[in-house]
Amino acid sequence: REGRRPLIAGNWKMNLTHLEAIGLVQKLAFSLTDPQLEAAEVVVVPPFTALRSVQTLVAGDKLEIGYGAQDLSAADDGAYTGDVSGAMLAALACRYVLVGHSERRTLHGEDDAVVAAKVQAALRHGLVPLLCVGEGLDVRREGAQVTHCTAQLDRALDGLTADQLQELVIAYEPVWAIGTGEVATPADAQEVCGALRARLAESHGPELAAAVRILYGGSVKADNTAGILAGPDVDGALVGGASLDADQFAQICRTA
Ligand code: PEP
Repeated sequence: REGRRPLIAGNWKMNLTHLEAIGLVQKLAFSLTDPQLEAAEVVVVPPFTALRSVQTLVAGDKLEIGYGAQDLSAADDGAYTGDVSGAMLAALACRYVLVGHSERRTLHGEDDAVVAAKVQAALRHGLVPLLCVGEGLDVRREGAQVTHCTAQLDRALDGLTADQLQELVIAYEPVWAIGTGEVATPADAQEVCGALRARLAESHGPELAAAVRILYGGSVKADNTAGILAGPDVDGALVGGASLDADQFAQICRTA
């Protein structure tokens, strides 16, 4: 992987109260040794309501577990009832923020323009966007997954320079694999992750492409992690359901 440190991120989605979140992070911290946390970067992505608790726990215990948010507003402040700004997340010392998760795209109608605006909002506030792209089953059946995902990437990063994207993380998440138990094959994951890196080399130069971490997400479990991560362009995993089980998530992190 040419020096790219593997990253395992657990997207909790709309699960766990802040009290339950504390329990899960504590269990995770007990399950992972310092060398394991050095070998792979481990990040949890709780709901907004648990971020402050996770921050307090991680900072207080000096745990080498990172955290991020599941969404942010494209706007910086103002009349956006129910939204959360990048500044608010930065004030909680979040490092990462998911942008363009398929559940946001589908359930909240976020199109590529919204996704691009949110990537820019994250960067404005010093957050690292964890940008999700991925094709639905119809596109996969047509064999158009590479063009679909590279087009999503292009539109999300439109107008941004390589300098601005130094820390960007991309997650390839085929929609048909999310929460379905149907994991992509290692070859499927490598095909699109490799194509995304090649596209990034064309659009922003080979140096950035070599530095950016590209994760796979979609029904990752402890027993399929090793195969998925074998691809040379697959730098880690974005884990949904399995990240709610401390033992299983820890096992995934150890595998990385
Ligand atoms: C996700 O929501 O990002 C995800 C990959 O979910 P799951 O692992 O449950 O398929």
